[in-house]
Amino acid sequence: MPHADTARVLRLAAPFAVAVAAIAAGYGFSVTLSGYLVYLGISVIVACIAILGLGVVTGSAGMIALCQLTFAAVGAWFVSGLNVIGAPGGFVAWLAVGGVAAGAAGILVGLPALRLRGVNLAVVTLGLAAAADVALVQVQFPGTASGTFVPRPGPFADDRSYFVFSVIVLVACATTLYVLQHSRWGSSWKSVAFSERGTAAAGTSVPRSKLTAFAVSAALGGISGGLLAGQVGLALPASFTPLQSLALYVLSIMAGAYLIDMALFGALLWVAVPELLKRWGVPQDWGFVVFGALGVQALASGTNLGAVIRTTWWNRTAGRARRQAATRTLAAPVTDVAAQPPAAAPGGAPVLEVSNLSVSFGQVQALRDVNLAVPQNAVVGLIGPNGAGKSTLVDVISGFLPRAEGTVTLDGTSMAGLSPTRRARLGLRRTFQQDRVPPGLTVDAYVRFVARRRLSHDELAGTLEFFGCPPPRTRLSTVDVGTRRIIEVVGHLLARPRVMLLDEPAAGLSHDEHIALAERLRQVPHRFGVSVLLIEHDLDLVRSVCDTITVLDFGEVLAAGPQEEVLSDPAVLKAYMGETEML
Ligand code: ADP
Ligand code: MG
Repeated sequence: MPHADTARVLRLAAPFAVAVAAIAAGYGFSVTLSGYLVYLGISVIVACIAILGLGVVTGSAGMIALCQLTFAAVGAWFVSGLNVIGAPGGFVAWLAVGGVAAGAAGILVGLPALRLRGVNLAVVTLGLAAAADVALVQVQFPGTASGTFVPRPGPFADDRSYFVFSVIVLVACATTLYVLQHSRWGSSWKSVAFSERGTAAAGTSVPRSKLTAFAVSAALGGISGGLLAGQVGLALPASFTPLQSLALYVLSIMAGAYLIDMALFGALLWVAVPELLKRWGVPQDWGFVVFGALGVQALASGTNLGAVIRTTWWNRTAGRARRQAATRTLAAPVTDVAAQPPAAAPGGAPVLEVSNLSVSFGQVQALRDVNLAVPQNAVVGLIGPNGAGKSTLVDVISGFLPRAEGTVTLDGTSMAGLSPTRRARLGLRRTFQQDRVPPGLTVDAYVRFVARRRLSHDELAGTLEFFGCPPPRTRLSTVDVGTRRIIEVVGHLLARPRVMLLDEPAAGLSHDEHIALAERLRQVPHRFGVSVLLIEHDLDLVRSVCDTITVLDFGEVLAAGPQEEVLSDPAVLKAYMGETEML
């Protein structure tokens, strides 16, 4: 489709066009603004790069990091130090080294984040910032004692041209970040922020997602610090205090710094508020109070100034996206499906085999000696009343409950000791009963992220259409939960796993949509070569889709076998009647 290709090329070219325009605008400012404003402009850019970094770790990946200026200090330290020893390469090379060194420091600081969350992570990172501050005051930056100034790069020696240089650095950082945000890394940050379990189930390593976020965030901090060293010549510990890191964090939350334009807005506030206070004769420390108040407002209301500005600004685009999402086709009749032959005959060695699984949560024995097999090309139903242990069984099989007893084998290979990420990569995929689909992504980015393989546009769009899902460019935040969970199924299906465990995929759908989904699931082995274990509540649906059925009740297998036998078993009917009466 040439039209789609043109649109794609335009979409890819847009950031680069913006980059060129930004550099041109920077040049324009540098020749028209007063010298004083140009100097403040450099400070805005330095702050903007640091805030962009915070946007990665806090805004995208959802973690708290209160030591961004410590990473900036690492960058400034390297630039100053390399200058003192006269390292080759000049300022630009030192700036890059500072960024890489800060990125490495970011990985070290990120290690605790693999275990800590929320307030604990905040305390650790703030403690680190405080310790680094004390150390910096003691030892000072290299060159301080001897008064060795950091020279600015050759053609950018005066303030006006250094401002242009800073704009170029900012544009390079922002463009790189834009590309990263639209890569697997960016998807993994947004995914891990929304659900660590969902990320692992998609075959992506949660630790790696967090550490790449920390590394990129800290590297941007380092570049910002290095740029500051070039601006002021001699960096001082007073520019990198924990209190300032804290204020910068608050500002990035308030501005919505994961959005590149909003990072610039945050940076303007960062420089303008103290500047205005100074002009009005108010002590600059009141700036922290202003940022604090704005931050409390942002955290308490769940919205932020940046988001408000952005939605007003982009209102028309957002309106269009909403209208697009409103077209739901989930319940559309599936004509081509009806014409398909039924699923290829199941049989052969089981793809998935589960033996003697037992799990208890304290006093509750959730599963006891459960055995189950999913043959090749089969859709196996797993039914049972609420609390029977169905979701727990899926958790055990997919590796989320490693302490369970019993064995799980995929194609005859034991899964013992393998993480959920590893199992997902080996072709054992599962979906969740709760919503674990990150709303920050587009359908396209999410499906590609989960599928973990190259997908042609036609394959992706075709499969979405087959399942009645909205088109790839739709934002997941505009899609209702029921449809989001079908998109989750599509993503895992396109990974072409050996087997998929679907935990009540139809929950949240209307009756018609329920039936339509059933018809499509019946085609999955035939169309995609994937075997399915389907957890489902609706007995009619199970009857129409599943070849064999296993019934769980109070954690034990009540019945298992071909569906007609199982569904006419009096014990099964009794368990279900009890449930119906309760409902
Ligand atoms: P189902 O999916 O069939 O509705 P579950 O597998 O969610 O059932 O739950 C089975 C039993 O295990 C229930 O009694 C539930 O309360 C208990 N259970 C599940 N997860 C936990 C947990 N993390 N901690 C304690 N009890 C749990
Ligand atoms: Mg359940």
